[in-house]
Amino acid sequence: MFKPLDIDKNTSAESANPVDSEKVKCLIVGSGPAGYTAAIYAARANLKPVLYEGLQPGGQLTTTTEVENFPGYPEGVTGPVLMEDLKKQAERFGTDIRWGLATKADFSGSVHKIWIDENKLIEAEVVIIATGATAKYLGLDDEKKYAGGGVSACATCDGFFYRGKDVAVVGGGDTAAEEAIYLAGLCRKVYLIVRRDELRASKVMAERVNKTRNIEVLWKHQTKGLFGDGVVEGAILVKNQGQPDEEEVKIKIDGFFLAIGHKPNSDIFKDYLETDQVGYIKTIPGTSKTKVPGVFACGDVQDSQYRQAVTAAGSGCMAAIDAERYLSEKNG
Ligand SMILES: Cc1cc2nc3c(=O)[nH]c(=O)nc-3n(C[C@H](O)[C@H](O)[C@H](O)COP(=O)(O)OP(=O)(O)OC[C@H]3O[C@@H](n4cnc5c(N)ncnc54)[C@H](O)[C@@H]3O)c2cc1C
Repeated sequence: MFKPLDIDKNTSAESANPVDSEKVKCLIVGSGPAGYTAAIYAARANLKPVLYEGLQPGGQLTTTTEVENFPGYPEGVTGPVLMEDLKKQAERFGTDIRWGLATKADFSGSVHKIWIDENKLIEAEVVIIATGATAKYLGLDDEKKYAGGGVSACATCDGFFYRGKDVAVVGGGDTAAEEAIYLAGLCRKVYLIVRRDELRASKVMAERVNKTRNIEVLWKHQTKGLFGDGVVEGAILVKNQGQPDEEEVKIKIDGFFLAIGHKPNSDIFKDYLETDQVGYIKTIPGTSKTKVPGVFACGDVQDSQYRQAVTAAGSGCMAAIDAERYLSEKNG
């Protein structure tokens, strides 16, 4: 049976401090697959987790239709249904799920402080950061117009839907090279749209692109727009933009894949945690531990490699187990 959570409340009515404050054992920030999985494990371990959903309850998967690669759904599942299922499972064990955005962090003391919506202070014994990452887009109106209709920022997730078809990948780094090579194994033809006259990708990856027979690199091309009747049927590119020989080029494609990077949602934690150059939170390899004892990170906010729902969920499980072990060692 669901029981009210045993939370030590210290509201403004009782405190001289005008900021509403509350002490919790385990705070989870983020409601994607990582956050909800951490919540399921933390709740079942009696950590009484409080979870803040952020601006995108359910996370990135709520923006997609078919998810065919999450284990346990043989017929596939829509992103919103999968996330609703995970939420219900976290609630079933007593997770206190709340609307709110973490706006500030202070990990300098033994109790970790997170401010919600700038006006509520949560003091937590352990914090699990599961704030995800956001794919970068070019900023074209057509990317929104054809969202779910041929525009994707994840070849591993959506490539399967374009088997035997023609697609384009935008980007010149390692991720773009990887995505193009992955798609080349599924699609008839892959255009790699590169702004410059060389790839930023490593030499090895660049060579693999060059050797892949069905990848055509479009050097010094930029995307101007997409066209199609309801779904993507092609892209309008500009070659040699700003040069005397500038020209417009049209390609026929069924899928348009962005591979220009992701932005991990780690800004508010950066003063206290180590991140890489892009902003991914660094964890001790093989664990979810950050350099601050009692603060754990899971999911896409700490994963520049895999960025899948199932890997996010797996690392959410690790974070809850790491948090439980930390607390039992600390509290004896
Ligand atoms: C269109 C699309 C399709 C995809 N398709 C697939 C697929 O088919 N299969 C697959 O395996 N993967 C897919 N992915 C990738 C998958 O969605 C991600 O790998 C996964 O969602 C990462 O989970 P996460 O929990 O780390 O973070 P996210 O899902 O990004 O969730 C982050 C959560 O943190 C919250 N948050 C952020 N900042 C704050 C804050 N300051 N305070 C409080 N909360 C905050 C957000 O509101 C959100 O709830 C897809 C991604 C996209 C964008």
